[in-house]
Amino acid sequence: MSANLLDGKAIAADLRNSIKTEVEAITTSGQRPPGLAVILVGDNPASQVYVRNKQKACEEVGFLSELIRLDPDTSQEHLLSLIDDLNHREEIDGILVQLPLPEQIDEETVIERILPTKDVDGFHPYNMGRLVLRMPLLRPCTPKGIMTLLERTGVELAGKDAVIIGQSNIVGRPMALELLMARCTITVCHSKTKDLEDKIRGADILVAAVGRPNFVQGSWVKPGAVVIDVGINRLDNGKLCGDVDFEAVREVADWITPVPGGVGPMTIATLLENTLQAAKLHQVS
Ligand code: NAD
Repeated sequence: MSANLLDGKAIAADLRNSIKTEVEAITTSGQRPPGLAVILVGDNPASQVYVRNKQKACEEVGFLSELIRLDPDTSQEHLLSLIDDLNHREEIDGILVQLPLPEQIDEETVIERILPTKDVDGFHPYNMGRLVLRMPLLRPCTPKGIMTLLERTGVELAGKDAVIIGQSNIVGRPMALELLMARCTITVCHSKTKDLEDKIRGADILVAAVGRPNFVQGSWVKPGAVVIDVGINRLDNGKLCGDVDFEAVREVADWITPVPGGVGPMTIATLLENTLQAAKLHQVS
């Protein structure tokens, strides 16, 4: 039997609509709209597409959106002083520095410079630390968006065995913390993991964030599992595919996300959600 499709595109559209309605209520009451500043250093083609999509999404829900483009040879000092300015600007609730950065700039130094209440990517050590301690504030967008998708399945998460493939700071690790907070028993796998297939076979909830096309095979997946495919891989023929062999795995799983149209749209909708949350934090403080 074929798995139910977790339609990230439709769920993200719902989320964006409810954010738009809230922004209308905020501005009608005379308050300013939430504001997001996005900084793009250099001309990485993928980053340009991501930044354009984020800006468009902001405009659609009625946010103030500011795109700051910097030359590829921008110094770290210049970027840090720009972040300082944005940290002080009242109409800016969220600051997003598009990664990756050119090699002369240290990513961690830049992320740490952003005021934690404006860190809408949720990558600042303060926000990560709060997630570790089960008192999250601004949470990394992709894992948080995946939690919204999981809620939509109606599957009870508490007590389930969750396996995450990938341990990156932006996806794998915060994903593990989110699922632990939801009281799953978690296993985090990476490139040095032994007996990977056996571990995957034990997963009631499987999150693949590897960056390798069609990596997870149908025979590795537990019947009835919920499978979340984070991967975005471009094939030689120009098509996008995930980290999961979708056609094979959909015959075994109960729920599965497509690529494209699964996790990707949720990441952007969750960025809007985080910016709205940050605006609320700033307007009460
Ligand atoms: P990353 O390269 O930082 O991490 C990949 C992880 O996979 C590493 O922890 C590595 O140890 C693990 N890995 C690699 N080979 C493995 C193997 N053979 N067996 C087990 N583990 C292995 O990548 P990332 O930034 O976490 O992104 C992962 C994928 O998700 C990429 O395709 C990326 O494009 C995509 N992504 C999608 C979204 C979205 O919104 N949909 C957001 C972020 C990343």
